[in-house]
Amino acid sequence: MTLLQDRPSTQRDPNAPTRHYDLVIVGGGVVGLTLASALRRSGLEIAIVETQTPEQAASRPRAYAFSPVSRQLFEQLGLWEQVGPQVTHFQRVRLTDGDWPVGIDFCPQDLGNEPVYYAAEHRVLMAALQASVRGGNTLDYLAPAQLQQVRYGETEVVCDIEQDGETWTCTTDLLVAADGGRSPLRHQAEIGTLGWQYWQSCITTVVAPEYPHDNTAYEKFWPSGPFAILPLPNGHCQIVWTAPTAEAQALMALPRSEFIQALQARYGEHMGRLEMLKEPLLFPVRLMQSHQYVKSRLALIGDAAHSCHPVGGQGLNMGIRDAAALAEVLIRAHQQSEDLGSLTVLQRYQQWRRWENSVVLSMTDGLNRCFSNHWWPLVALRRLGMLVLQRVTPLRWLALRLMTGRFGRRPTL
Ligand SMILES: Cc1cc2nc3c(=O)[nH]c(=O)nc-3n(C[C@H](O)[C@H](O)[C@H](O)COP(=O)(O)OP(=O)(O)OC[C@H]3O[C@@H](n4cnc5c(N)ncnc54)[C@H](O)[C@@H]3O)c2cc1C
Repeated sequence: MTLLQDRPSTQRDPNAPTRHYDLVIVGGGVVGLTLASALRRSGLEIAIVETQTPEQAASRPRAYAFSPVSRQLFEQLGLWEQVGPQVTHFQRVRLTDGDWPVGIDFCPQDLGNEPVYYAAEHRVLMAALQASVRGGNTLDYLAPAQLQQVRYGETEVVCDIEQDGETWTCTTDLLVAADGGRSPLRHQAEIGTLGWQYWQSCITTVVAPEYPHDNTAYEKFWPSGPFAILPLPNGHCQIVWTAPTAEAQALMALPRSEFIQALQARYGEHMGRLEMLKEPLLFPVRLMQSHQYVKSRLALIGDAAHSCHPVGGQGLNMGIRDAAALAEVLIRAHQQSEDLGSLTVLQRYQQWRRWENSVVLSMTDGLNRCFSNHWWPLVALRRLGMLVLQRVTPLRWLALRLMTGRFGRRPTL
């Protein structure tokens, strides 16, 4: 894909076949499809361009800690009826500091009897979203398709799209980059980022423990990095195991039986013996915040705009809130006949979401740095903090509001 900045749209070939969309969403992952689903009844003409087939895009073997705010947004989209029966409701989230016996328990009572979090599998979220966007009359779901070239003009963007071996041209008022952490659209628009690669990497796998998980999620903070256990349907558990990169690579290189032994040692004995159901996968971990979320005729959402450490399960939840906030801004602008791709409109989205995401990014970074070390003054301080948090309910309530995205302005769809 190439990008020819600021080239006036009048320079395009007047004979090229064109179709006009109000917006083109590049990237049909959970975040891109959430935006499309939120706009499906707005009357806007929308194209979604996704490089993978729908089946490939839905097949990522990952379960997410899914926040109550994300659940409310899925309810407003009419998707929770389909998703709800296939997710696990956490009855308890237990945070511990290594082997130290005192932990913090977050329970539904802390949130007015609402589950603290849910665990939702990627394929479940994607199936509901794909069905929702396929049902939209003004939505073209192009998958697999590839954006070949983008030319930004003053009043529109010209996109060459390749699908089924043919390239055709369309114009749009607004391009939305929902194309993930490596976001080619962000790079080509020369939007800078702030952030770093962590010294840690992350291993994920799914296990079947011998005993029931009782819908309890665990975040065990070890000096090498957090180790999370998410309860899934069928009594299975998803593991998100963070460790210094060299150590994580060495674990990945172990024969399967030794890997399971190491996993069992870290997991503990409380759920009995573990059977590993999925091959472990290794991910780099990075923190990234884009300097800008918008430019004239371009908006970034989800991992294209930011990414964070997996501790606390925040990345996708932030992206879902981005998609909902952008949808709210665009629907209002459309009702007032404003230009959807203008900076005036797009900056409303940026002002809303960028600072809120900065708070979450700082929180995940702080949590990881505070717990991933042996420095005794910090160990003493954080353990004191945990004792206070476990005993003072209003403080636990505050911490939960932050962790579950219940701060700042809530989008409504
Ligand atoms: C190990 C791990 C555990 C995690 N656990 C959690 C968790 O518990 N809770 C949570 O909230 N978050 C979690 N996250 C973060 C979460 O996975 C991401 O924040 C989320 O997947 C981002 O969604 P997205 O739709 O923005 O991007 P992606 O999921 O990356 O989707 C991008 C889509 O764009 C498509 N695409 C890419 N380039 C192009 C292109 N040029 N043209 C067209 N399409 C393109 C891709 O094929 C893909 O379908 C975790 C991350 C990791 C690594």
